[in-house]
Amino acid sequence: MSQGILYVVGAGLAGLAAAVAAAKAGTRVVLFEAAGHAGGRCRSFRDDRLDRVIDNGSHLVLGANRTALAYAHAIGGHEAMVAGEPAFPFVDIATGARWSVSPKRLPAGLGEILKVLGLPWISKGQTVAGRMGKSRSFRRLWQPMCEAIMNTAPEEASASMFAWTMRRALLGGASALVPYTFPLGLSAAFVAPALATLSMFGAEIHFRRRLTAVTATELVFEEQTIALRPEDRVILALPPWALESVLPDAAPPTMPTRPIVNAHFRLAAPPLLPGGGAFLGMVNSTSHWIFVRDDVLSITVSAADALADRPNDDIAALLWEEVARALGTPNAPIPPVRILKERRATLAHDCATIGRRPGAATGHPHLFLAGDWIDTPWPCTIEAAISSGLAAARLALGQKSLTFTG
Ligand SMILES: Cc1cc2nc3c(=O)[nH]c(=O)nc-3n(C[C@H](O)[C@H](O)[C@H](O)COP(=O)(O)OP(=O)(O)OC[C@H]3O[C@@H](n4cnc5c(N)ncnc54)[C@H](O)[C@@H]3O)c2cc1C
Repeated sequence: MSQGILYVVGAGLAGLAAAVAAAKAGTRVVLFEAAGHAGGRCRSFRDDRLDRVIDNGSHLVLGANRTALAYAHAIGGHEAMVAGEPAFPFVDIATGARWSVSPKRLPAGLGEILKVLGLPWISKGQTVAGRMGKSRSFRRLWQPMCEAIMNTAPEEASASMFAWTMRRALLGGASALVPYTFPLGLSAAFVAPALATLSMFGAEIHFRRRLTAVTATELVFEEQTIALRPEDRVILALPPWALESVLPDAAPPTMPTRPIVNAHFRLAAPPLLPGGGAFLGMVNSTSHWIFVRDDVLSITVSAADALADRPNDDIAALLWEEVARALGTPNAPIPPVRILKERRATLAHDCATIGRRPGAATGHPHLFLAGDWIDTPWPCTIEAAISSGLAAARLALGQKSLTFTG
């Protein structure tokens, strides 16, 4: 497609990754986004109530997420990421017990580890709880890992997808479990440097352009229609619920999703977490993870179906009481707080749903799909989104070995 234009619709990480790879390879790229900003489900913004830059939800990337890291390096975003020690501190809110999970100190025996990695063979339709639920380390390790990585309760999460991520994390070498956090916010690492790179390579970026339909010859936006030439290509980097309305043939019928709830508390002073790191896992609690960035303490609750419909004040009170127990500061009044509910944070990673994900190719040879939910071995994550964007760009440009470095 040397003379053609690559149109990318959706400026989440999948669309940004596709656009960056193509633009750096010398392709003319035009990117459209419905919102007034890029980043989609992975973004930062200034919150007036807290008077701080916060993320829509705390994110963690691991060293095992090689494509995400390659993207961050290619756009310069890695300078806004901090690599931590490969150690995951936990506290049990019910008993006060504390422990740390690291490659050298997994709180599980060899039999359990082999089982979680997929030996013996995982039967079709098996769930994480069905496979690991009776193991000694289920509540302390496999359940929190499953909820964090798959945003799906172990009772319904696919055991084979979980095994795949565990193989990447546990067998991926010394760096695979290195956690990366974002002291300046997600956008500083993944979004702003991508937009700057795209501008530098001559890409056009249009915000507030919502695609309403696509055909073999046209991209129809609310206020504009673009005629497609035979040499042009299109990547739709949209979530399934958006694709459903613009290209019903390519989107499977409604895909179930799961919410993530985040609470951001602005404290009087930067708190010190047990273990001294930037995050802390919690078990036997509604809260799953605490993240700390300066004086903002953020709580993440994954697979938060039971919480998402409760009033914000109730959520703040419930989560703050757990934080106070975790930090040993009982009865502290609730500080200024922002509750964010991402109701469609990711797909539900049950066996039936992940089996229905489409690939990047569509029935039309010039039209490709990207997004964290497209069929890859990864659950819906930054790694899945960025990998799918790169894969779609490779297909659209007909360049199998395209990378983020051009
Ligand atoms: C609270 C939360 C916490 C998370 N935590 C982690 C984590 O710790 N680690 C991790 O790896 N992943 C995490 N994830 C998942 C990760 O954020 C997503 O997998 C990733 O951001 C998805 O990117 P995407 O580009 O596929 O989709 P999206 O980000 O949804 O991007 C799609 C874009 O398309 C735009 N769009 C939609 N419809 C149209 C239209 N009709 N026309 C034009 N544009 C349109 C949208 O506005 C959006 O910008 C988390 C997600 C959430 C919500």
